[in-house]
Amino acid sequence: MPPALLWRLALAQFFAVASLADAADAPARATPLRPGGAPAASAAPPGPSAPTGGSLATRKLRGVDYVSLADAATRLGLKLTVSDRGRKARLADGQVRADLEFDVREAAINGLRVVLGDPVQQASGQLYVSRIDFERCLTPLLRPGFGVPPRAAPRVVVLDPGHGGRDPGTSANEKAHALDVARRAKKILEAAGLRVVLTRDADVFLELAERSATAVAHRADLFVSIHFNAVAGDARTSGVEVYAFAPKNQHSTAWWNAPRRADPHPETSEMPVNRYDHWSALLAQSLQRRLVRDLDAADRGHKLARWGMLRGLDCPGVLVECGFLTSTAEAKKIATPAYRQKIAEALATGVRDYVATLAAVRPRAPGASVAGTAK
Ligand SMILES: [Zn+2]
Repeated sequence: MPPALLWRLALAQFFAVASLADAADAPARATPLRPGGAPAASAAPPGPSAPTGGSLATRKLRGVDYVSLADAATRLGLKLTVSDRGRKARLADGQVRADLEFDVREAAINGLRVVLGDPVQQASGQLYVSRIDFERCLTPLLRPGFGVPPRAAPRVVVLDPGHGGRDPGTSANEKAHALDVARRAKKILEAAGLRVVLTRDADVFLELAERSATAVAHRADLFVSIHFNAVAGDARTSGVEVYAFAPKNQHSTAWWNAPRRADPHPETSEMPVNRYDHWSALLAQSLQRRLVRDLDAADRGHKLARWGMLRGLDCPGVLVECGFLTSTAEAKKIATPAYRQKIAEALATGVRDYVATLAAVRPRAPGASVAGTAK
């Protein structure tokens, strides 16, 4: 098969997983993939809809480097459609799409809410996205694996149940529920052939840096910190959120909320986990899709924050907020073992989707069969 065809076939099979989930307005389950079960792809060769190389022109807008959506579309091999008198834009092909809007940070990418690090800008009659958002958000979510070295098949997963001991979390139940979900997800992932380490398997207090240190010590391939949310005096807000560590020179999502405060965290140095921004974004999307669809939960978005347990990681890592303990309706569900099992299954399936995507975009060894598994 010609390389271009192989690439398209692999992409089509990989994105079939995404489209199945996207098509499900009601919670429906796509067939779970076993780790490495997706077809391996050849490295992206040039082709009509394949991403292309070359340098990308940037221009400073409000002090930040931006790239035009037209250039971004060309680079990613996507079609750009502008609407609403130039205020809105869609980057898409038959399998992926991103909807962006002038002066807005929230985007819809592959049917999910994503909060960009910088608002979309307009200049010379064109729309622009910040260079960091292009490289570390749009690219991994629309063309996973493009422009970064491939990653080997993950073997070690570290799950981090939030809080513990003298730190109960947002309510007395958060630390207990997080541990319960982590234990359940561990069982499922172990049955799928992955080695799983919990940062704590008891009601003990851990410093945030100890959590990432555990992942480093076990040579983790990916890290998921498990939490439950709360908002004081609000019994109605519900849904799931997924956080990646903010890239260097970008603010946390919360920083933008009025009234603006100086961000308490440094913004200008790269943290160890930032070396994996591309893959963390992809991991965030994989978990977000499963949590939203499989739990039929409100999508509160894929956001950025400088969480201390992610900072020192030597692998991709995200934090998931699996629901609101302050929501009357959601807390009632979370209190049941059956729903916590559902959360664990959604997380485990999200991890396996991520593993399958890595396999799909990894260059094939010479002579390997298209359907061959990578493990
Ligand atoms: Zn928490």
